[in-house]
Amino acid sequence: MKAFTYKSAASEADAVAALGPGAVALAGGTSLLNLMKERVIEPSVVVNLKSVAGLDKIEAAGDGWKIGAGVTIAALLENPQVVKGYPALAEALETVGTPQIRNMATLGGNLCAKTPCLYFSHDGFACLKRGNGNSCPAKDGDNEFSAIFGTVMPCVSVHASSASPALIALGARLRVAGSGGARELPVEEFFVLSKDDPARENVLKQGEIVTHVILGKPAGKSATYVALHKASHDWPTALASAALDMGEGDLVRTARICLGGVAPIPWRVQAAEAALAGKKVTPETASAAADAAMAGAAPLSQNAYKVKVAHTALKRAVLLAARGSWK
Ligand SMILES: Cc1cc2nc3c(=O)[nH]c(=O)nc-3n(C[C@H](O)[C@H](O)[C@H](O)COP(=O)(O)OP(=O)(O)OC[C@H]3O[C@@H](n4cnc5c(N)ncnc54)[C@H](O)[C@@H]3O)c2cc1C
Repeated sequence: MKAFTYKSAASEADAVAALGPGAVALAGGTSLLNLMKERVIEPSVVVNLKSVAGLDKIEAAGDGWKIGAGVTIAALLENPQVVKGYPALAEALETVGTPQIRNMATLGGNLCAKTPCLYFSHDGFACLKRGNGNSCPAKDGDNEFSAIFGTVMPCVSVHASSASPALIALGARLRVAGSGGARELPVEEFFVLSKDDPARENVLKQGEIVTHVILGKPAGKSATYVALHKASHDWPTALASAALDMGEGDLVRTARICLGGVAPIPWRVQAAEAALAGKKVTPETASAAADAAMAGAAPLSQNAYKVKVAHTALKRAVLLAARGSWK
C-alpha cells in the first residue's frame, strides 16, 4: 500500500475541506482498504468520516427518517422502524457480505462503493475503469458475473451496492455536501452511466460527500429478493427491489422496481412498473412484469443465465412485496 496522510474530520465542513485533489473519504473501509491494498486506488490523503459529528444518527424526519451516511448496516438492521417500515431495504441489507462486514460497512459507503468486478478490483489487469487500460477486459474475457443491461457501454462491470436498488424503489433521496453547500437529489439521479468517463459512477464532485439518506413515509408493501451465488458472503448474481402502492380492490396503483448486480448502475425497470399498473399481483402478472424488464437485456458471451436469474428475482420481489410481510 502506498503511504498516505490520515486526517480525521470532526465536521462536514472539515471533511469537505480535507477532501482536496488526491484525497479520498474513508467510512467503514470494507471496500476502500481492499482497493488500496491492491493499489487500485492510491490516495495521498485519507479522510476519516466516522469522526464526523452526527453522521451516525438515525432521526425521525417528517413522515420518514433521515439516516446518517455513517450509520452501519448492522445498526440499520437493528432499528425496528427501518426494518418494519422499509422491508425492501432491510432485506437487501441483511445479505451484504458477512456479519463482520455489516458491523463495519456504512450506508454511505455502500452507495459509493466501487464495482466488485475482478478485473477492476485486483492488481495485474489493464482495465478501462481503473484507468490503466484502453478497453474493458470483461467484454471479451471472463464475463460470467458482468452486466446484462447497459452492455453497449465501454465498461460492463456491475454496480456494487445492494442497498441502492431498494432505496430507488422506495423513492429515497440523498443529501450531499460540498464546498458550495448542501443539496438533495433522488437516489436514482445519484448514479451516472457515462460513455466518456467509465470511471465515474456517481455525481459526486471532488470534495463532496454523501451526508444522509432520506426515506419518505414508510412503504410497507416493498420487498427485495436476492439471488446469491457461490459463497454466502459474496455479492449477489442479481437482486430485485419492488415497492408497490396499492389502490382499491388490491390493484397496483403504481410500482417502482429496480434491479441490482445486472448493470454498471442500479437498473430501474420502468417497463416492468408499467406492466403492473392497474393489475392485481399474481404469479402471472409478476412474471409478465419480469418479461417486460428482461426484454431490454443484452447479455454477454458467458452470462445469458443471469437473464433468467434476474427474471426470477424480479418476479419473487413483486410477489413478496404484494404479500406485504417482513418475515
Ligand atoms: C467479501 C465482501 C462481500 C461484500 N458483499 C457485498 C454485497 O453483497 N453487497 C454490497 O452492497 N456490498 C458488498 N460488499 C462491499 C462493501 O463492504 C459494502 O458495499 C460497504 O457498504 C462499503 O461501506 P464502507 O463504509 O466500508 O465504505 P468504504 O470502504 O469506507 O468506502 C467505499 C467507497 O465509498 C466512498 N465513501 C464512503 N463513504 C462516503 C460518503 N459518505 N460520501 C462519499 N464517499 C464515501 C469511499 O471513498 C470509497 O470510495 C462486500 C465486501 C466484501 C469485502
